[in-house]
Amino acid sequence: MRLLVVEDEIKTADYLRQGLTEAGFQVSLARNGLDGHHLAMTESFDLVILDVMLPDVDGWRILQSLREAKNATPVLFLTARDSVDDRVKGLELGADDYLIKPFAFVEVLARVRSLLRRTQAPSTQEAVSYTHLTLPTSDLV
Ligand code: CA
Repeated sequence: MRLLVVEDEIKTADYLRQGLTEAGFQVSLARNGLDGHHLAMTESFDLVILDVMLPDVDGWRILQSLREAKNATPVLFLTARDSVDDRVKGLELGADDYLIKPFAFVEVLARVRSLLRRTQAPSTQEAVSYTHLTLPTSDLV
């Protein structure tokens, strides 16, 4: 599983990268919005963790570009505790979930796994039910 972390705060970025790597993910880290935007648009990831407050290209621009390009990669954004407007805006722009800073790593991991389950499950289920549907039919023929 490939994850992209876009975060300009050095401590938070390193904390996320280390924890997620130890949890078995392959983590690419962008420490500013420009690099984050470039990576998100040119490489393929299973999930993006996106800080909203970035000094150059902010998280909203990156999220907007992804969705405008019909890129449906799940996005988990990081926002400040008191900013209800940001949470609403992020979800309206097409993010899948958010985390409020400061967060505990166990929560990051739980949300990442939950999002990956949600986005990866449908194709498996489709294949399974398709098999179940076709077997009885072919028996009748
Ligand atoms: Ca930031």
